[in-house]
Amino acid sequence: MITYNYHTHTKRCGHAVGEDEDYVIAAIENNHKIIGFSDHVFIPNMTQEGIRGNYDELENYLYSLNHLKDKYKDKIEVLIGFECEYFEELEDYYRDLLMSGKVDYLILGQHYISYEDNKMEGYIASSKISTEKYVSLIEKGLKTGLFSILVHPDLFLTEKGLDEDGVKLAHRICKSAFENDVYLEVNQGGMRRGQRLIDKEYRYQYPVREFFEIAKRHKNKFVMGIDAHSPFDYFHPVNRIYAYNLVKNWNIDIEKNVKLKKVK
Ligand SMILES: [Zn+2]
Ligand SMILES: [Zn+2]
Repeated sequence: MITYNYHTHTKRCGHAVGEDEDYVIAAIENNHKIIGFSDHVFIPNMTQEGIRGNYDELENYLYSLNHLKDKYKDKIEVLIGFECEYFEELEDYYRDLLMSGKVDYLILGQHYISYEDNKMEGYIASSKISTEKYVSLIEKGLKTGLFSILVHPDLFLTEKGLDEDGVKLAHRICKSAFENDVYLEVNQGGMRRGQRLIDKEYRYQYPVREFFEIAKRHKNKFVMGIDAHSPFDYFHPVNRIYAYNLVKNWNIDIEKNVKLKKVK
């Protein structure tokens, strides 16, 4: 049993439900020792309704989670983080969040491949848009040393199979994670949506087995992530059973203890 989860959202993003405290209680009831909140990062001057909260939610997010950190300190460690997309223009903002001590850690979830005029676009999971761009942003992002975990690294395979180019890109992602000492996440969010026919194969959108076969060859380190968008996701059979069966069948060693990056 894994006793941590560094991938928990809050209702502020607009597509998650439940009170912050309910997530903490759900984690405790599932014998977790660590709950990390990593809501979709709020970005100054950017509104992305239904996808992330506005920047003016930051103070309330920090206040609420710091309160829970203290309230439950004898039962569970509450950590505060964000799930971020990497873009050069945002790097200083992310570094400041960490350096100022406002957040304990950051994870990289590269959902989009363009950021211009305060708009983030090009959802990587739903289109055939450039996966090369997705990978080069991940490479740049991991190099910054700001991100402890690369979550759903195989997101670019949501709608497609792993062709020859995809294999090369998968190698680049895994190599970059290894070189920069970043964990790869086996993400339960894709599993909760169930299996379906994708490019002639009946499988989850992610995790994708071939991707993790490549990752094992690169000697990557792995974590499990619930990607909770509801407190009930902690109790979901995927978290209690299926994800554990999957990593066992795929022969993936999930780290028991995670070392978060400290910024220099
Ligand atoms: Zn989300
Ligand atoms: Zn997430």
